Amino acid sequence: MSPLLEVQGVGKRFGGFVALDGIDLAIAQGERVGLIGPNGSGKSTLVNCMCGTLTNETGTVRFDGHQMNGLAAHERTHRGMARSFQLPRPFTTLTVAENLRIPLLYSAATRRGIHLSAADSDARCQELASLVGLAEKAGKYPRDLTQVEMRKLELARALAADPKLLIADEAMAGLSQSEVADIVNLLIKLNERGITIILIEHIMRAVMSFSQRLVVLVSGKKIADGKPDDVVNNPEVIGAYLGQ
Ligand code: ADP
Ligand code: MG
Repeated sequence: MSPLLEVQGVGKRFGGFVALDGIDLAIAQGERVGLIGPNGSGKSTLVNCMCGTLTNETGTVRFDGHQMNGLAAHERTHRGMARSFQLPRPFTTLTVAENLRIPLLYSAATRRGIHLSAADSDARCQELASLVGLAEKAGKYPRDLTQVEMRKLELARALAADPKLLIADEAMAGLSQSEVADIVNLLIKLNERGITIILIEHIMRAVMSFSQRLVVLVSGKKIADGKPDDVVNNPEVIGAYLGQ
């Protein structure tokens, strides 16, 4: 079976600075992949090139059997690629449920043939809130949420488009150990429902408990890709981290 996501030779520059240098990466349907690397190694830039927020100068991104090059971010979202942002940015004047309704209606409205009634969208918002453990908070505002609840809202917003692939970019920074475990469990639950997940994370305990496979970027290059235990014991990976 062809991979769900196939990145080939992706390169991105900012002026004279090479942020990504010929990245190859294939991800199968259903996988849980951890993407790690020192700060500034190009992880978010790679996500941005996959999702269409940035345009790569070289290489190709294929997703679910289609070429993504040239497609805008919202078109890639409609094809099933979703990402959560490092810093959650909900609409502060809207409730949790309303924050979910916007991406929900937007994705339904732009997917031909789908019309959601008010009752359907209410039910779906409640379902999304429940899925991430925010059922009780559906009527609250973002300011009423704790930090971990904000991260869950951010994940639920990404899930509203019913993605095949979810890319979680540092969804756990600043959380306590038990909150990190809570988010890891949530991501595993989402994966068990069939969503392929790429987790970008610095907290190694979380990365190791989540990932079936680990990919390492250093200075815009992929230096390792394999079983987590093998990758963290790889001398080049250890050197890259210690040499920072
Ligand atoms: P990571 O997510 O791994 O911490 P990034 O992908 O955010 O790293 O950044 C990779 C490198 O590209 C960094 O050196 C960063 O400063 C640079 N960079 C990222 N985005 C931009 C941009 N929009 N303009 C210029 N340089 C950028
Ligand atoms: Mg980043």
